[in-house]
Amino acid sequence: MNIDEKYVSEIVKSVIENMNTVTVSGNQKGVFDTMSEALSAVSKAYKEYRAYSVEQREKMIAKIREFTLNEAEVMAKLGVEETGMGRVSDKIIKHQLVANKTPGTEDLHPTAITGDRGLTLIEMAPFGIIGSITPSTNPSETVICNSIGMIAGGNGVVFNPHPNAKKVANYAVDLVNRAILEAGGPENLVVSVKNPTMDSSKEMMTSPLVKMLVATGGPGVVKTLLSSGKKAIGAGAGNPPVIVDDTADIEKAGADIVSGASFDNNLPCIAEKECFAFDNITDRLMESMVKAGAYHAKGSEIDKLLALALKKTEKGYTLNKKWVGKDASKFLKEIGVNVDKDVRLIICETDASHPFVEHELMMPILPVVRVKNIEEAIDLACEAEHGNRHSAHIHSKNIDNLTNFARAVETTIFVKNAPSYAGIGAGGEGYTTFTIAGPTGEGLTAAHSFTRQRRCVMVDGLHIV
Ligand code: NAD
Repeated sequence: MNIDEKYVSEIVKSVIENMNTVTVSGNQKGVFDTMSEALSAVSKAYKEYRAYSVEQREKMIAKIREFTLNEAEVMAKLGVEETGMGRVSDKIIKHQLVANKTPGTEDLHPTAITGDRGLTLIEMAPFGIIGSITPSTNPSETVICNSIGMIAGGNGVVFNPHPNAKKVANYAVDLVNRAILEAGGPENLVVSVKNPTMDSSKEMMTSPLVKMLVATGGPGVVKTLLSSGKKAIGAGAGNPPVIVDDTADIEKAGADIVSGASFDNNLPCIAEKECFAFDNITDRLMESMVKAGAYHAKGSEIDKLLALALKKTEKGYTLNKKWVGKDASKFLKEIGVNVDKDVRLIICETDASHPFVEHELMMPILPVVRVKNIEEAIDLACEAEHGNRHSAHIHSKNIDNLTNFARAVETTIFVKNAPSYAGIGAGGEGYTTFTIAGPTGEGLTAAHSFTRQRRCVMVDGLHIV
């Protein structure tokens, strides 16, 4: 057994033995006491990394994929344990998705322009050191996904993870560094701080060493980054609606929506968060959802759920963070409902102005709103999406309905006749990412998003024709 394998197995053993009190201590690679130490370490590493070939980058990325697959379960358990949110089985799938479908250097495409006056070459160059702020909802997934894309682009990375998910995010930073070192890469190409705070975030954002900023989170962090004066990629909040019309395969639509909306307890920003169904199929749709594992809450149960999920203030409702990402069965137990099966999702019929429709709950509760026709469905769905232009979904076989909704809602991700996660490559074509940049327009980020274009011009000569 070599040192790294021994080190990993000790961590895994300690995590599993201490699942109630997660203690991932010891010297985590790339994780520093202060932001200034982290910045100077990554700066040194980036200088070394400039001399590495693309082939070497790929070797490092291959190791990150391998380690992520090996340690997916540990990170999934740690994530749920630390944040109290989500489902271990779904988080394992998220890590596998990141390992298998995050693009590497193949995502970088140079452009050549040739003509009478010679050759012009446009190459995708590193930005330098990238500062990345990560969320609590996909903490280690985002660290690994960003690391693969940013390293593929030739960059170094400094993370300021969400304070409520720092253990699992820093576990991922350590994993990435172990993988890089085993593949012969430089020390500390990806760094982080032990105790991320708003101050460490500010230090990172304002450091002259950091050339690009990437934020994955709610509206607050995206706004802060966009006012930084630096090149910034903002991946912000969503509130994805799903429409079901009367041409859809209703059984399949119900099952798909339960799968998508309950995935990791509705934490993913792309997950179905409110449903608009044609009046003439709503009952059938809700029955098919129950068949697929949902519980249909009615009457006072809905009021009790509302009292748990949202807090009423003078300014309206705000999210009760205590209940974000909790299991549906926990909600049901709290409101006094006993069920004898594993309920993945709670569905309830509401009107379009209900707070469950308005707010990005990130809880396994899906409001279903009856609509008369597609025009009403599209209007209400666009309103519920709040112009985030993040994600929207539809179940329909009517081409006009599919097209008209896509045009009206203008989201970065639009999934037709499948669970929402097909939009990030799980059961759908295309690569994956956990940083979906709607506000700044990069869309589904990958290595190319973390590069800058450089042009090299040679006038005359160098032709073979
Ligand atoms: P959050 O906004 O609370 O936190 C995200 C990160 O930003 C954290 O690291 C936090 O410490 C930091 N942060 C928050 N406000 C900040 C500020 N003013 N300055 C600097 N840093 C700040 O988000 P969360 O609860 O962890 O994640 C859920 C939110 O993120 C949801 O709104 C979800 O839709 C969104 N999200 C979006 C994507 C995407 O790809 N678009 C992916 C995941 C999550």
